[in-house]
Amino acid sequence: MTRVVEGLRIRGKKVGCVPTMGALHAGHLSLARASVEQTDVTVATIFVNPTQFAPGEDLDKYPRQLAEDADLLAGVGVNYLFCPQTDVMYPPGSSTSVLAPKISKRLEGEFRPTHFGGVATIVLKLLNIVGPHVAYFGQKDYQQVAVIRKMVTDLNVPVEIVACPIIRDPDGLAMSSRNVYLSAEQRQIALSISGTLREAKERIESGNRDGYEMVTEMRQRLIDSGVTSIDYVAVANPDTLETADPIELPVVLLIAVYVGKTRLIDNCIVDPS
Ligand code: AMP
Repeated sequence: MTRVVEGLRIRGKKVGCVPTMGALHAGHLSLARASVEQTDVTVATIFVNPTQFAPGEDLDKYPRQLAEDADLLAGVGVNYLFCPQTDVMYPPGSSTSVLAPKISKRLEGEFRPTHFGGVATIVLKLLNIVGPHVAYFGQKDYQQVAVIRKMVTDLNVPVEIVACPIIRDPDGLAMSSRNVYLSAEQRQIALSISGTLREAKERIESGNRDGYEMVTEMRQRLIDSGVTSIDYVAVANPDTLETADPIELPVVLLIAVYVGKTRLIDNCIVDPS
């Protein structure tokens, strides 16, 4: 993989990389399309990274459908697919990792304390192997993009990071590989996540500036809709992810909940325009 991209770079080609864990949906494909449009050659990666899953999370049952994924990527014009085995990425004795930046401690970090260390490590390894000019990530994982941007800056990784908008199903549910876990009834409950974000955004746009009240109302709406449990609901500064109370635009609204055993996240920016 490294040699392929080295050859491309020597020939003056601009290379884009789209890291994923597979089980691809239109969200992933939007990243791939952006790369195909904006660069000369696109490398997608599929690797279900064990180090970003905590014990008891869904590593073993995470959906895997490599042949189908390969077809989907080829269909949008991706040129190379890199899907290494786990023992190639983490050979026996491998023991160095990235200490994720401070911004990883909030929100997701409170509930999944080892997650972003695993993400930062695998993303750096993939960027080192592939060596792209640009790498594409989704705003769906808002904090992840912030962590990766900071890592790339702090560790002088020579790559441009591009964040792409959240792709949703027509009913508003943010696309996720984990949505396949949801029963029809759970899916209805899960719609309250995007519904809660939409309503909160409207209330902020119409002048509500009380961050505490907003979070309280959002939590209540989610509970009333039947979510199983809430990890966090936040109205935060889009750069620092610190609580925004009183609300000063722009802010980002972030939600992480369980519907049954499925953990779902979503977010939305509210900006002055
Ligand atoms: P994953 O396979 O879940 O690790 O996701 C791979 C990349 O796709 C990450 O950069 C995600 O943020 C992005 N992604 C996942 N779901 C969506 C979505 N609904 N819209 C846009 N990007 C997404």
